[in-house]
Amino acid sequence: MSNDVVIIGGGIVGLATALNVLERKPGLKVCVLEKEPGVAAHQTGNNSGVIHSGLYYKPGSAKAKTCVEGAKRLISFCRRHGVPHDICGKVVVAASVAEIPALTELFRRGVANGVPGIVEIGPERLREIEPRAAGVKALWVPGTGIVDYAVVSRKYAELIERAGGRVKLGARVTGIRTAHDGRRVIETTVGPFETSRVVNCGGLHSDRIARMSGARPEAKIVPFRGEYYKLVPSAQDLVKGLIYPVPDPRFPFLGVHFTRLISGEIECGPNAVLALKREGYGKMSFSARDTADTFFYPGFWRLAAKHWRMGAGEVWRSLNKAAFVRALQKLLPDIRAEHLEYGGAGVRAQALLSNGALVDDFNIVRDDGVIHVLNAPSPAATASLCIGEQIAAMVLNEA
Ligand SMILES: Cc1cc2nc3c(=O)[nH]c(=O)nc-3n(C[C@H](O)[C@H](O)[C@H](O)COP(=O)(O)OP(=O)(O)OC[C@H]3O[C@@H](n4cnc5c(N)ncnc54)[C@H](O)[C@@H]3O)c2cc1C
Repeated sequence: MSNDVVIIGGGIVGLATALNVLERKPGLKVCVLEKEPGVAAHQTGNNSGVIHSGLYYKPGSAKAKTCVEGAKRLISFCRRHGVPHDICGKVVVAASVAEIPALTELFRRGVANGVPGIVEIGPERLREIEPRAAGVKALWVPGTGIVDYAVVSRKYAELIERAGGRVKLGARVTGIRTAHDGRRVIETTVGPFETSRVVNCGGLHSDRIARMSGARPEAKIVPFRGEYYKLVPSAQDLVKGLIYPVPDPRFPFLGVHFTRLISGEIECGPNAVLALKREGYGKMSFSARDTADTFFYPGFWRLAAKHWRMGAGEVWRSLNKAAFVRALQKLLPDIRAEHLEYGGAGVRAQALLSNGALVDDFNIVRDDGVIHVLNAPSPAATASLCIGEQIAAMVLNEA
């Protein structure tokens, strides 16, 4: 099958890229290859559904640049296409005086990044916004919202097909080779796809797909599972919107928090435990290949040596509900174990360098003519329309 552009991966980043290519160059033959029977089956469909406002990211980073603008574009996309969403706002709460300097730094970053409406508030205002939350100081971020990213992705897919593109489901990419005429042949479980341009948006498998095409990415994907509880219906009025802690700046995780979902349910979590399978959503999920890949990687052991104490705490919270409840009580003292029921999990594709450093920012590279998205962690769903635009410009050689 002959194409102009093949995009591997029907998560939100791949779909946003395809949509943007077709918007810029209508008539190009664009095909998204997705191995699962539906789009958004992995990170995109198992995330927290927050439209982030751009608070956390180092000013000047790709995350900072694309999140604020991406959120704006996403919200107007949702309005235009009738995708349910809610700009409910969020509080970031310093539970103790010791957390105030980090909260102040977040405020500074938020202002530098142009986050709309962000203000520092005291305990009284906090109680007006979130009556059950406790803290000595907080940030109120009124522009943060919620959405179901699987619904957004299905809308992107619908628009791609309406514009003449294809989203081929159930097509697992197994190899990438270069034909005599320099075009690429993407081998899949449903046959070969020929194309002049290729984009790898393979999420949890992006490093392996890069290697299929002959690239040697510096970082390896190490999967971290985030496990959630949710509030039982009778406890849902303990939380109005989104309540977040002050994150530990050493890690790209935001700490356990409360998130109102667009369905009305309240999600609590996540923690961050090493997953023994890249797409392993259960505590017992295991893949020998994925586990070996992690355990034979020196970067993993360097990370573990540095942060074993934090890792052990996360595992303990995974196994012990009481420990999870204690972490949540820092933000919401009234929460009890009986308010929580199991709420599912998501797996993050964390790019890790061989020196043990976590790759923090988005990483999109071109290697031998193929574009690879090698790190697209949160807030990539929020920023998808901006990231898609950036990749589309690379595909069309405009950047
Ligand atoms: C627990 C959790 C919470 C998060 N919360 C938020 C949030 O609130 N807000 C936010 O903005 N971001 C959030 N994120 C981050 C966000 O979900 C991701 O940044 C985003 O979904 C990445 O999209 P993607 O398209 O790169 O990856 P994915 O959604 O993982 O898509 C990759 C796709 O590639 C496919 N694929 C892989 N290998 C192959 C192959 N060989 N052949 C064909 N297809 C293949 C996969 O099946 C998959 O569908 C969260 C992430 C997690 C894990």
